Amino acid sequence: MFEIIFLGTSASAPSVYRGLTSQVVSYNDKRFLIDCGEGSQRQILKSGIGFRRLTKILITHGHLDHILGLAGLLSTFSRWETVDQIEIWAGEWAMERIHDLLYGVVLRGAKPALDIQLKIIELGPLIEDGDFRLSAFPVKHRGPGCFGFQFEELPRRPFRVEQALSLGVPEGPARRDLVSGKSVTLEDGRVVTPDDVLGDLLPGARFIHVGDCGDADSLVDICQGADGLVIEATYLEHERDLAAKFGHLTAAQAAMLAKRANVGQLFLTHISRRYREKEIREEAQAVFPDSTVARDFDKYEIRKLDK
Ligand SMILES: [Zn+2]
Ligand SMILES: [Zn+2]
Repeated sequence: MFEIIFLGTSASAPSVYRGLTSQVVSYNDKRFLIDCGEGSQRQILKSGIGFRRLTKILITHGHLDHILGLAGLLSTFSRWETVDQIEIWAGEWAMERIHDLLYGVVLRGAKPALDIQLKIIELGPLIEDGDFRLSAFPVKHRGPGCFGFQFEELPRRPFRVEQALSLGVPEGPARRDLVSGKSVTLEDGRVVTPDDVLGDLLPGARFIHVGDCGDADSLVDICQGADGLVIEATYLEHERDLAAKFGHLTAAQAAMLAKRANVGQLFLTHISRRYREKEIREEAQAVFPDSTVARDFDKYEIRKLDK
């Protein structure tokens, strides 16, 4: 199961109600900050999640409403004793801008107080760890090197505790070995194999995160069957031409993607001040009923859904 907290849900400029784009995705003890618009560090504080373990930052693209908050955040982290290393993942063009912001404006020749690792996103898996995989895929927006992120809980075989008890498998290392696929020999000499105590393979949850996007058609394949999709909805249909001109989607286009790809839940963000939230929700729900317009500090769980 994944959890997402929306920290900022406004497009281009903040509004009284919405901060600039940023969200935190969590999976067990892993946390990822996706985008970091201006003011994100205050949103982090207000949300109550705190800065701990918030050391992996994924950037969808290099527009200012998605990266300016990195300067303030890094400045705070520099004085924050518990954070000694940070990873920022971004496409090449975005990273040039982030590099200028951090090294040209924040540091200006000073040695950083923490280890800053700038990692250029390549297509495919970025992080694989146990039953978790994070990968990047290309997104069309304005400018080169825009990416979306796929979070996957890999298929796993559940441990059948009752079966283990009836076979006399003690708690502790023996169970860990069985879960990791190794047979174990019990004290009385009997051998227990993983097949004796593990259930059938269960698929995990899959969650797709897309930032700004001007072409939903190219995302149908990657979104196909996802349990959750976060994507922008900057415009409404009556301004579809403007949306196309600036490389953005309308609420109906985002909802049509969710419908065509048969996703579980749709969360819309990057909301423009030019419309009322109700208009965006209604336009999306007319196409895809499980559409939600995210608000700042909303928290949602994304689980494997039976569809
Ligand atoms: Zn934006
Ligand atoms: Zn943008």
